[in-house]
Amino acid sequence: MIRLHDTMTREKRVFEPADPKRITMYVCGPTVYGRAHIGNARPAVVFDLLRRVLEHEYPDAEVIYARNVTDVDDKIIASAEQEGVDPSVITDRYERFYLEDMGALGVNPPTIAPHATQEIGPMIAMIDRLIETGNAYEAEGHVLFSVPSDPDYGSLSRRDREAMVAGARVEVAPYKRDPADFVLWKPSDEGVIGWNSPWGRGRPGWHIECSAMIRAHLGETIDIHGGGLDLIFPHHENEIAQSRCAHDGAPLARYWVHNGFVDMGSEKMSKSLGNIVTPAELLEQDPRGEIYRFALLSAHYRQPLAWTEDLIAQSKATLDRLYRAAGDADPGEPDAGVIEALADDLNTPLAMARLSAIEEPAVMKVSARLLGLLQSSSDEWFQGGGDAGDIEARIAARAEAKKNRDFATADRIRDELKADGIVLEDSASGTTWRKE
Ligand SMILES: [Zn+2]
Repeated sequence: MIRLHDTMTREKRVFEPADPKRITMYVCGPTVYGRAHIGNARPAVVFDLLRRVLEHEYPDAEVIYARNVTDVDDKIIASAEQEGVDPSVITDRYERFYLEDMGALGVNPPTIAPHATQEIGPMIAMIDRLIETGNAYEAEGHVLFSVPSDPDYGSLSRRDREAMVAGARVEVAPYKRDPADFVLWKPSDEGVIGWNSPWGRGRPGWHIECSAMIRAHLGETIDIHGGGLDLIFPHHENEIAQSRCAHDGAPLARYWVHNGFVDMGSEKMSKSLGNIVTPAELLEQDPRGEIYRFALLSAHYRQPLAWTEDLIAQSKATLDRLYRAAGDADPGEPDAGVIEALADDLNTPLAMARLSAIEEPAVMKVSARLLGLLQSSSDEWFQGGGDAGDIEARIAARAEAKKNRDFATADRIRDELKADGIVLEDSASGTTWRKE
C-alpha cells in the first residue's frame, strides 16, 4: 500500500489508482534552452524513484510515465536568435545534455516524452474547445483563458484573487479582459517559429501544452501529476483550469505530488540568482553519478535540500560503506522495511537508514537497486567510474617506465596518481588501484 502527500487536499492519502492495471503519471519536464542544474534534477530523480516504487508495488500493471519536453518558448527563441541558428539546434542540443545528465544520475527515460512542437494539433483542438465552452476568448491574435469564467480556479494553490494576480507577475496587457487571464495562444512575427491556427500564425503559451499532452497520451484524468513546488502556481493551477473546463468538469489528476527546492546557502538554487551547480560540473569532479542521486534522495522530497560540499562527501562515504557491505544482487525481494518506508510518501531518509542496517549482502544490493543505487559492481565503484581509462593508461606508463628501469618516472607517476586520490597496490600479478 502506497501513501502519497496530495497537495490538493494537503494530506497524506492512500494511493488507489483508477485502473490498477494501467497507472498514469505525468511530470512537467524541462524547457530545453540551457544546461540543467542540480535543482532541476531533483524532480527527475524523485519521480524516477516514485515510478520504481509504483512498478514494484503493482507488478502486473503498466505504469505509464510521461514527461514532456518544452521545445518552443520565448527563451529558446531568444537563444536561437543570439546564436543565429534554428530553434531546433538549441533544443536538440540541450535535450541531449538533459538526457545524458539525468542518465548519469540513474534516471531512466520516461515511458513517453512528448515534445510541444509535435503536439500543436491537440493544443489547437483544446483551445478551440475552451472558446466553445466560453472559458477562452480571442483578442488581437491572442487567445486567453478567462480566469473569472472558472469559479473553481485557485483550488490547488488556495490563493485569493489578489495574491493570484500579484503572483502571476503578468504584464497588464490591453487585450486582456482580466489581469489574471493567461495566454493559450500568441501571434508569431514573421521569421519567428509559428504554426497556422484559426487565430492566425502563432505559437502556444506554455500551460496549454501539458493539458493537451496529458489528454492526448494518458486520458482526461490521470492518477498522479508531479513537479516542483514552484509549479503549483500559476502553472499547475492553469493546467487544472484548462483541462477541467475542456472536459466537462473531469479533474485533471487524482493526486498532486510536489517536490521541494534545492537550496544554496539560504537561497533557492536558480538560474536567475546565478547560484547554480550543474550535474555536468559535479560529474567532472567525480563521474560516479550515484553520489549525487544519493545526495538528492537524502532529504525527504517535500523538504528543502541544502546542497553543500559536506552533503556530497557524506553521500560518497555512505556509498563507499554500502558498496563494501553489499554482495552481488540475487533475484530476491528487497527488504520489507525499505519498501515500507518508500511506500510511505517516499520516506527516503528512513529507507536509507534501514538500507544501511541490512545484514544480508544480497538483500542490501537488491534493496538499494530499488532506490536506483548500487547499480555498479563494487570493483567498478572503487575504481571510480568514468576516469578509469585515464588512470589505467597512467598505470601502464608507469609499468613501462619500471620495465625500462626508469624508476624516477615510475615514482613520479605514482606520486601524481596519489595526489589525485588514487592508491596503487603492486603485487606479483601486476598493479591494482583504488580511490582513497
Ligand atoms: Zn506542466
